[in-house]
Amino acid sequence: MFIRYRTEAIFLRKSKRFEADEYLIVYTKDFGKLGVTGKSIRKIKSKLRSNSELFCYSDIEFIRGRYYNILTDSEAVESFSGLRSDLAKISVAFKIAHLLDSFLAEEEEDPTLWNFIKKSFYELDKLDFEESQKKKKLQAFYYYFAFKFLEILGYGPEISNCTIDKNEEATIFSPREGGFVCEICSKNLKDPLKAKLKEVDKVFLRKITESGLEEFLSQDLEFELVGEALKNYIAILPSRSS
Ligand SMILES: [Zn+2]
Repeated sequence: MFIRYRTEAIFLRKSKRFEADEYLIVYTKDFGKLGVTGKSIRKIKSKLRSNSELFCYSDIEFIRGRYYNILTDSEAVESFSGLRSDLAKISVAFKIAHLLDSFLAEEEEDPTLWNFIKKSFYELDKLDFEESQKKKKLQAFYYYFAFKFLEILGYGPEISNCTIDKNEEATIFSPREGGFVCEICSKNLKDPLKAKLKEVDKVFLRKITESGLEEFLSQDLEFELVGEALKNYIAILPSRSS
């Protein structure tokens, strides 16, 4: 007899396996990141299929097969239709999924992270911006998610004072030093990815650590080089993807 495990999950990635199977990466409440195989899930009318769409939040059941976990049931809790019907939001969800898959090891339960991810999907689903603001706000949303996620994992960068001598005038972001450094320290620093950020970027990053998501998004914050800094910072972190 197989033990049936039940948990809550958000579907993050999927890839085809064999004729009709699918390999799915989910983030779960009780097992953290988990890989499960949906047997025959790609057959038309598969009951599992519609409740296992990308970015669905479902109650799932799985068994541990000899070589891999097998998805045996999935019931949608929230299908996030506001997210899944919006291409710009979907692209943010893909970036989030990529980030989670890259940095999380399988089967490490983390209640704080589960709550944060779930909340972020609910927020992304209901976000409503004026068309002229949308691109910028969704970018801000993703940066908020990414930096908070890294903070939860213990990789949050130092964004107030210089990481080396605590100088308050720190304007250069150094991925290798793990955050901001001042002009003087920067001169002796061998970090090919270091870059001077604008004051608006520093304010933006500080607001991320200080505010909850709703409060953060309600502010009209500017940013210029945050995306580049994030990309460079992520590049030097240890990736866990298999
Ligand atoms: Zn310094």
